[in-house]
Amino acid sequence: MATVFEMIINGEIPSTKLYEDETVLVILDINPVCKGHSLVISKKVYPDFTDCPASQLAHMMETAQSVARKLKEKLGCDGTNILINNGPAAGQEIPHLHIHVIPRYKDDGQHFGFSKTCYADGEIKEYGEKLAL
Ligand code: AMP
Repeated sequence: MATVFEMIINGEIPSTKLYEDETVLVILDINPVCKGHSLVISKKVYPDFTDCPASQLAHMMETAQSVARKLKEKLGCDGTNILINNGPAAGQEIPHLHIHVIPRYKDDGQHFGFSKTCYADGEIKEYGEKLAL
């Protein structure tokens, strides 16, 4: 079944478009964390971040950088969160690769829900060895 983003790309449902080229579409998120929250969407469907070719990711990140610059210039935000929710366990609702670019303000009252943990003795070394690229 087509995702909401495919339907937007195909013009079947409306969106507020900020930019479009051959491979990406940028729209405003309909339920923003802060107003101006934008989504850089791959036109080709990659359900998972890890499936996307590096060249397409690079183009999406360049586009996200342009969006972040525009948010700062036009909204005067103090910062931005640039994030990808990859997989349902990570909060991804729409299985179609997209980058969130969220304008942030010093006192906007928004917080990530993460609480941090600690490594047991020696465990960080094990993780380091297992995950070295
Ligand atoms: P994610 O949880 O990373 O998959 O993010 C999906 C995002 O898409 C959410 O922030 C939604 O608010 C947003 N969204 C869902 N439907 C629409 C829509 N029709 N137009 C714009 N944004 C949407």
